[in-house]
Amino acid sequence: MTQQPVRFTILGSGTSAGVPVIGCECDVCTSPDPRDKRFRPSACIETVDADGQHRVILIDTSPDLRMQSLRHGLNRCDDILFTHHHVDHVFGLDDVRRFNVLMDSPITVHGEPITLQHVRRMFQHIFEPASNTNKSFVATLIPHAINVGARFDLHGLSFMPIRFMHGRLPIIGFRIDRVTGGPGNGSDDPLPLAYCTDVSSIPPESWGMLVGLKTLILDALRYRHHPTHMTIDQAVDAARQIGAERTYFTHMTHDVLHASLEADLPDGVAPSHDGLTLGSLDGRQ
Ligand SMILES: [Zn+2]
Ligand SMILES: [Zn+2]
Ligand SMILES: [Zn+2]
Repeated sequence: MTQQPVRFTILGSGTSAGVPVIGCECDVCTSPDPRDKRFRPSACIETVDADGQHRVILIDTSPDLRMQSLRHGLNRCDDILFTHHHVDHVFGLDDVRRFNVLMDSPITVHGEPITLQHVRRMFQHIFEPASNTNKSFVATLIPHAINVGARFDLHGLSFMPIRFMHGRLPIIGFRIDRVTGGPGNGSDDPLPLAYCTDVSSIPPESWGMLVGLKTLILDALRYRHHPTHMTIDQAVDAARQIGAERTYFTHMTHDVLHASLEADLPDGVAPSHDGLTLGSLDGRQ
């Protein structure tokens, strides 16, 4: 039996400043390789549910969400999953009001209680529209609190929030499986997949949730030490220990030239790039 189709797309593989960095003329910022152009970090998972309805789930809403949506022809957004509340992961939230209009429906926003609290504060005009001076066109969102280790299901897919440390800030990543489990559709199928951005260390209790992955997306900021992100070496080490069939790095700065990093990495580990797509929706492109 063919499994429910799933397509995973990296919408942005860059760090908080994006690449190129404003006003920078370094080799990466001026590289002709399109893989060295990095929007702020986010991803999207698409599926077709049991009723044949196309579903789009965003992981984070980067400040580049508008351009990312235009580039990929996104015309709906059923759910948003937040990893944490940093600006490079949430500041595109305002733009999802367009998806509300296109779908004529609210969008559920999933995050840890503390993340939702920050998002409500940052987007007061959305969550407390009565306090706006003029009646204005804002997104219609339904907050949904999620917790580490408590699986939740959306559109035939299951999501497990996993704890990671981002410096001293506890944040979450997501492990994504089909609710039905079982093998995927061929070698390009992305599931089980874990999306782990803004990670500096993996707590002991989280390793068990990363067993048996087909695809691992992992933070690998740059070569030099950073207090809140893994370096390339640390990420290679973690990727080896996790042992996914294939690992892609994300959240990379302008210290990282795609082609040189790709040439240096061990088999099964590669830099991601904006527009990297895994899996397909069976004829729906
Ligand atoms: Zn640069
Ligand atoms: Zn962050
Ligand atoms: Zn970040």
